Amino acid sequence: MPELVFFCGTMDCGKSTLALQIEHNRSARGLQGMIFTRNDRAGEGKLSSRLGLVTDAEEVGDGQDLYAYLVDHLSRGGRADYVIADEAQFLAPQQIDQLARAVDDLGIDVYAFGITTDFRTKLFPGSQRLVELADRVEVLQVEALCWCGARATHNARTVGGEMVVEGAQVVVGDVNGSADEVGYEVLCRRHHRRRMTAATARAATLSPDVLPVSSD
Ligand SMILES: [Zn+2]
Repeated sequence: MPELVFFCGTMDCGKSTLALQIEHNRSARGLQGMIFTRNDRAGEGKLSSRLGLVTDAEEVGDGQDLYAYLVDHLSRGGRADYVIADEAQFLAPQQIDQLARAVDDLGIDVYAFGITTDFRTKLFPGSQRLVELADRVEVLQVEALCWCGARATHNARTVGGEMVVEGAQVVVGDVNGSADEVGYEVLCRRHHRRRMTAATARAATLSPDVLPVSSD
């Protein structure tokens, strides 16, 4: 039975690396996939991982009908033995419905990869729809660690190293954002709640009087 599978987790949990691995394994068996992405850090029409691997992909546009796109591709003699949708948190809920329809009506496996929650700990709309519709949800916990060494479960947005909790849901930035740039950092829930990033923790160590009182 074809499946809609949602591989999810924090930033840095290895989603795109796994997406590239799935792509590699299937193309090595002679299968040909359709790869969708949106706002990848490597630029338009790319699926990249932090390990430096990259492959070409179809950049999904606003309001694009992914089911219609697949039907059109197949009707022109193209192949799509499976679908990979990376950065699926940036897809609209309707586009997730279209991917589910591709599984049911076209019999294609769809592997979606995405960040579950945004920097305010709220579900991205695309991720919410995937949780609602997926046949299977796989939570990835691949060595994403908070600066304290605990398992990182939350995404923080930073500006100049300071955690911020206001702003638009989607602002493209990168880890190690410096100066006044928007950056992202994964934290454990405790340090997300306390808004303690690696940079503010370092600053607190240098001036012990501002160290927050710990009750645990
Ligand atoms: Zn922590």
